[in-house]
Amino acid sequence: MSFDFTSFGCQVFNDRVMKERLPANIYASLKQSIDEGQSLHPEIADEVANAMKTWAIEQGATHFTHWFQPMTNITAGKHDSFISPKKDGSVVLNFSGKELIKGEPDASSFPNGGIRNTFEARGYTAWDCTSPAFVRDGTLYIPTAFCSYTGEALDTKTPLLRSMAAISTEALRLIRLFGNHTSTRVSATVGAEQEYFLIDREMYESRLDLKICGRTLFGAKPPKGQEMDDHYFGRIRIRVAEFMRQLDEELWKLGITSKTKHNEVAPAQHELAPIFETVNIACDHNQLTMEMMRIIAKKNGLACLLHEKPFDLVNGSGKHNNWSLSTDDGINLLDPGKTPYENIQFLLVLAAIIKAVDEYADLLRMSAAVVGNDYRLGGHEAPPTIISIFLGEQLTSILEHIADDSNPISKSAEMLSIGVATLPKLKKDDSDRNRTSPFAFTGNKFEFRMVGSSASIACANYVLNTIVAKSFSEISSRLEACSDFDKEVKNIITEIMRDHGRVIFNGNNYTDEWVEIAAKRGLPNLPNTIEAAGALIDPKNINVLKEFNVLSEVECYSRHEIMIENYAKIITIEANTMLEMIHREILPSIIRFVGDTAQSYNQLKAANIDNDSIHNQLTLLSDKITDITKLTNELEQKLRKLHELSNSLSTKETAVLCRDDIKVVMQKLRTVVDSVEVIVSDEYWPMPNYTDLLHRV
Ligand code: ADP
Ligand code: MG
Repeated sequence: MSFDFTSFGCQVFNDRVMKERLPANIYASLKQSIDEGQSLHPEIADEVANAMKTWAIEQGATHFTHWFQPMTNITAGKHDSFISPKKDGSVVLNFSGKELIKGEPDASSFPNGGIRNTFEARGYTAWDCTSPAFVRDGTLYIPTAFCSYTGEALDTKTPLLRSMAAISTEALRLIRLFGNHTSTRVSATVGAEQEYFLIDREMYESRLDLKICGRTLFGAKPPKGQEMDDHYFGRIRIRVAEFMRQLDEELWKLGITSKTKHNEVAPAQHELAPIFETVNIACDHNQLTMEMMRIIAKKNGLACLLHEKPFDLVNGSGKHNNWSLSTDDGINLLDPGKTPYENIQFLLVLAAIIKAVDEYADLLRMSAAVVGNDYRLGGHEAPPTIISIFLGEQLTSILEHIADDSNPISKSAEMLSIGVATLPKLKKDDSDRNRTSPFAFTGNKFEFRMVGSSASIACANYVLNTIVAKSFSEISSRLEACSDFDKEVKNIITEIMRDHGRVIFNGNNYTDEWVEIAAKRGLPNLPNTIEAAGALIDPKNINVLKEFNVLSEVECYSRHEIMIENYAKIITIEANTMLEMIHREILPSIIRFVGDTAQSYNQLKAANIDNDSIHNQLTLLSDKITDITKLTNELEQKLRKLHELSNSLSTKETAVLCRDDIKVVMQKLRTVVDSVEVIVSDEYWPMPNYTDLLHRV
């Protein structure tokens, strides 16, 4: 049966429902708050809450929740029912404007990076009316921002909302200079392509590493991985197709415009792309998409893996964050226009982004740092840990020509003094061909490909919005003060190409050669999460985040602390999981296999057949057991030492020990175990191997 598209968005308290159910004046006031990103007038809150409650109850809701996004990459909320007791022992269903606008959850159980130690434990959630409420599983979900009692953001959404205000103000200021007097708002638009793996649920349940860590800590290379390139865009298996169908339908009901689905490069890997929307809604929708993927996989006897690197030796997963800027009257600022002024505005916006990305490359890199991404970035499936921009030959040469005074395009009457008439129509195919760049211009948007598959897209986008706002602001100040507009535009582009052109790279980012070139150009290379996190407390970056009210200094430090602390926690959990698997599953299995093989060997020997190769095999396995035991002891010692030192080390020192000490032993241990896996009979191996996991969906 096909999906009834009249039920698209049926679980959402969207514009249509609001218009239908609210008195005209209330609707107008609410709409204004939504459009201007302002908070709701308290006088109308009660009526809005009441309409929302009535609608939600009709959709089967009994509860409501202030839904928020703490710094855990997943969402949270406590569910309160609408009931309120009456004197006669019955109940009425209530939902007040106050309850809609503000919640007061305890903030102490969410990552806060030390903010709570100095302030009160209480936190606030405040309704973000710019993202629509929705009903799911009997609860009305109210998207909210989450902050501490004293107003520090404790979530990923608050800085995103603040950055949206910044980019709107600064982009408007710039386009006004180009004669735009009609637009009243500029929003970042985002389409987040989501990669994921689907594997059999039973196999997933039988692997402690997948259950606890979301990735395999052991696993030998399968005979067939992705070398045949036969999975990408290939036929979708029936079970997977059924999962995708159910997922699409659930997402559509939630008003999420799931558009494209296909198999990815690695076996068992897939991708979902939605149609782009305003960034904070895109962010909420991406969180919901990830949640629905997990739930629907489980319902179908599958497990959805969102980790950046669930399997060694096959591609990991990312999130391609397609980002652009659009006015409220539908002008995409990254679309080359039709008139010379539109063209030059487009080129200047492009130049502004080049400047922003070069100046704040470290901050942008930070925005994609999660522990899992350390295994993926630079691994020949994802861009390296160096930020660069792909523009394509054509655009690069236009900008270079403006900068060095030669004229790229034939003269025309309408041409501006900086030498640009109408731009040649940019071929999307041309720019799309480069799949290796971390930040690629793809015709009318930039695609930031570094973001990890499990991460919230909020950080990447508030960083992008902020650094581009900064660049716009500097450029506008110059243009506002100049006497010859065209000449100043040319000067700005020239200076940007001279000072920041180094960040443009149109070649293959996956090669070692690029790493060398980038080093010569002085581009930062922050190879892991600990180093990338450092960008958050660099004074230059704190300043820009502060200047646009996106994060305060305290908030920057607290977020840095959380990143580093998470790093150490995750590595420690992985190490402990490894130890448990070794002690309780892997070693006993190998010993049993060796015992049985030794028995067979002895039986042969008793029959006067002395088989050298079995003997050698036994010796080899016995040596491997010794290696595993040694490395296991070493790992245990290191963990003990870390524990003993825990009070005397700073968070950063702990994280560094995890990276330089513990991770190294974990890798050695894995290598030995994987080398044993391939010589131990399947019957004895205690968990499904890579072939089972990747090819038996
Ligand atoms: P591809 O990545 O294969 O080039 P598309 O260009 O169709 O695919 O789009 C990829 C993603 O980019 C989709 O999620 C799409 O909605 C999004 N996208 C397209 N235009 C914009 C835009 N102006 N702003 C943000 N995202 C966009
Ligand atoms: Mg893409």
